[in-house]
Amino acid sequence: MLPGMKGGPLAPYACDPARSRGRRYPEADAPTRNAFQRDRDRIVHSTAFRRLVYKTQVFLNHEGDLYRTRLTHSLEVAQLGRSMARSLRLNEDLVEAIALAHDLGHTPFGHAGQDALQDCMAAHGGFEHNLQSLRVVDELEERYPQFNGLNLSFETREGILKHCALRHAREIEAREPGGVAARFLRRTQPSLEAQLCNLADEIAYNAHDIDDGIRSGLLSVAQMQQVPLFAHYSEQTLAEHPALQGRRHVYEVIRRMLSDQVYDVINATSAALQALGEPDLTAVRAAPALVQFSATMRAQSSALKSFLFANLYRHPQVMLTTEQARTVVAELFAAYLSAPHEMPSDFAARADRPRAVADYIAGMTDRFAGREHARLTGRQLLGAE
Ligand code: MG
Repeated sequence: MLPGMKGGPLAPYACDPARSRGRRYPEADAPTRNAFQRDRDRIVHSTAFRRLVYKTQVFLNHEGDLYRTRLTHSLEVAQLGRSMARSLRLNEDLVEAIALAHDLGHTPFGHAGQDALQDCMAAHGGFEHNLQSLRVVDELEERYPQFNGLNLSFETREGILKHCALRHAREIEAREPGGVAARFLRRTQPSLEAQLCNLADEIAYNAHDIDDGIRSGLLSVAQMQQVPLFAHYSEQTLAEHPALQGRRHVYEVIRRMLSDQVYDVINATSAALQALGEPDLTAVRAAPALVQFSATMRAQSSALKSFLFANLYRHPQVMLTTEQARTVVAELFAAYLSAPHEMPSDFAARADRPRAVADYIAGMTDRFAGREHARLTGRQLLGAE
């Protein structure tokens, strides 16, 4: 049995909601939910969360109904993250909250939309999706009478801000001294729950991109055999089920791959924690990243990632829609910048117009962006039926 398989009380290195560093605007505790459970519930009820169902990463929303969306991706990250958290005696509620919120700041049209918005905002303070996820939960959601945003706990916000350029970290630090950006300046680590979500994210998208890649016909099973991780579990599966083929074979390979990656993270991370003598949270933050793959699995996961990059994300068919997506976002940006009244009045009224335009576009679903682009330019590109 793997360490902590039965769950149990939180480990000394887990985040305890009773010792949370609190919210930006103090609020009374909820009667039946701890701070992180409440964060999770606020995220699930947010507008940005509902929009994830119409936002995509690799395949665009209009290309098919069976591909992952940012919503199903976020649910898969939460599921994988919670499984690992339980075994490591980390806080499952915090992992779930971070996982469900980690992609809230993503633009429409996946990586392509994000790259385009980055280019548009290069001269206006930049655009980073992790920072945007934090902006969504800190500022952009409008649900509560007393404050902007969702007023989440420090630990959830810290996990959401996975990466951030140093200049942005300095800006946040100036507003919020010793807050969620301090670790980028001090070069320390976030909580183990936050570290776990990063790895769960990687495990989830590598696996589901294989699935979606094969389903779309852009990747073949034969081609996937070049990837040692896939070949290994394929061989193992066929040794036990020689007649298995088609989708059921692919599912079984992915299932085994996911399980072994989860067990690998639990074992490697437990060993790293043990080597530090069961550290407390302060020691965890000062140490190098402790949630990890074994060296072998790290190499295999990286090889899979490189394969997907070269063969799926750079596939000519994906590149074609990627180009169109970039055009849609760049033209939307230019259109709203010169005609802000085309945006809702609260966005149009903001003093920092480029940032208002970026926030408005980043919040769009794929199909709404396509429709707005058609309305403003008279040209039908992506998703504008
Ligand atoms: Mg993700």
